Amino acid sequence: MLQAAHEIAQILSEDGVSYDADVLEHHGHSDWSTSNSPGRAVAVVYPRSTEDVSAIARICSRLRVPMVPFGAGSSVEGNFSQPHSGICIDLSFMDRILAFHPDDMDVVVQPGVNWVDLNTHIAPSGLFAPMDPSPTATIGGMVSTNCSGTNAFRYGTMKDWVLNLTVVLADGTVIKTRRRPRKTSAGYNLTSLFVGAEGTLGIVTEATLKLAPIPQATSVAVVPFPSIHAAATTATALIRSGIPLAALEIMDERQMAILNTHGSPAVRKRHWAEQPTLFLKFSGTPDAVAADIARISTLVSDLTNNTAPFHFARTPQEEIDLWAARKESLFTMTSMRPDGYEMWSTDVAVPVSRLAEIIDWSRQECGQLGIFASVIGHVGDGNFHVAMMYDPRDAEQTERVGKAVKGMMDKALEMEGTVSGEHAIGIGKKGCLREELGEETIGMMRAVKRAVDPRWVMNPGKVFDWQ
Ligand SMILES: Cc1cc2nc3c(=O)[nH]c(=O)nc-3n(C[C@H](O)[C@H](O)[C@H](O)COP(=O)(O)OP(=O)(O)OC[C@H]3O[C@@H](n4cnc5c(N)ncnc54)[C@H](O)[C@@H]3O)c2cc1C
Repeated sequence: MLQAAHEIAQILSEDGVSYDADVLEHHGHSDWSTSNSPGRAVAVVYPRSTEDVSAIARICSRLRVPMVPFGAGSSVEGNFSQPHSGICIDLSFMDRILAFHPDDMDVVVQPGVNWVDLNTHIAPSGLFAPMDPSPTATIGGMVSTNCSGTNAFRYGTMKDWVLNLTVVLADGTVIKTRRRPRKTSAGYNLTSLFVGAEGTLGIVTEATLKLAPIPQATSVAVVPFPSIHAAATTATALIRSGIPLAALEIMDERQMAILNTHGSPAVRKRHWAEQPTLFLKFSGTPDAVAADIARISTLVSDLTNNTAPFHFARTPQEEIDLWAARKESLFTMTSMRPDGYEMWSTDVAVPVSRLAEIIDWSRQECGQLGIFASVIGHVGDGNFHVAMMYDPRDAEQTERVGKAVKGMMDKALEMEGTVSGEHAIGIGKKGCLREELGEETIGMMRAVKRAVDPRWVMNPGKVFDWQ
């Protein structure tokens, strides 16, 4: 592995390879993630072009050294950890917007581009890239986890926004999955093969992304409910109503209470009802937004016998502040974590008709643990997270939390759901993936992996194992 690092140092510029212990630690461990590995890369390397990445891959492949791509490190299932050590390939210097085609509504970017920066840069054109995971995330990581976020209810997930990819394969070969038109039926859909592959099939060095028009008007509303069941049932009815919401999110009463004590100054401008709450976002033309708000208010009043008071943002600033309460929730929770404690966060999705049932069930299971546990999530597409704070030094508590998480996965599968709505598999959910898809399907994935990476050097130990 060191031999590979030394050879890579000869092709990259001077600051292209780091052996610094802090750098290795930062690239090998995540405070956000429950799934970490004790392994660390021997070096972190910083390519600046597709050619650099290709040369790195040729060296690592020849020397049979694991290659682990790294974007911003915000993934939460140990996706970029290095259980087999190797070379960590940090793509953050590949952060250029290569071509912007506003008339075609697409943009060609390098993988290290951050999605918030991209949207700021192209905002004057009236276009944006809709996926919104961690504000730190990069396009390469977002493609490779098939991420989504609060906008997925309206816009789908990352897979729906990738037109083509340039990918460096394990042996250094560079491929482009397709060209730039919005549609094609030419050949296998290789683009989708790499979306969500977590760097196990190749390294994305360029992506062409579709863009959406920035809505002319938006609005945000929050609605507290007497129970989580009432909130989840109403969410299901809103989804079925067909009224075009831009986003539909849920936070339980524990999350809401934290906003009052630990929220950012913007969020603490108001006192939040400490009740399970739905966050609704509307977008479209001004007339359409006004009509949607009126229809949703009537529907919620009817469903709840007027017991769930709406609060609508009155100004654009209040709209930003209300939505910040939802977007900052993970940061807010982390800020109140006692020293030495860790957060275990699940990510399951079920068919929407089963949403209220699984949220209720999860709340009951977690309630028995006697620890901080709270429900939050993108209920609009049947996806939610339960975040639990536990003390990893307490073996019994850790085991009980692990069992509760496993129970939620099993329950989601029983309901024909998935063990990963948006955080991918990493090292944390390999066993659950097998249960979700079965040996034959994993066998097909393994066959694809072996065909493109016969030496098993691309991010080994993730998604599924060699055998
Ligand atoms: C506060 C917070 C909020 C979040 N909210 C959401 C959310 O709402 N929705 C959501 O989906 N996720 C969310 N996430 C998770 C995370 O932001 C996403 O998984 C994101 O897509 C990861 O991007 P990244 O650049 O940090 O990738 P990394 O974590 O660096 O990498 C992710 C995976 O992609 C691989 N990879 C990275 N770059 C490349 C490349 N160029 N080629 C091939 N493989 C590559 C890595 O090896 C790894 O397997 C959240 C995380 C945090 C911390």
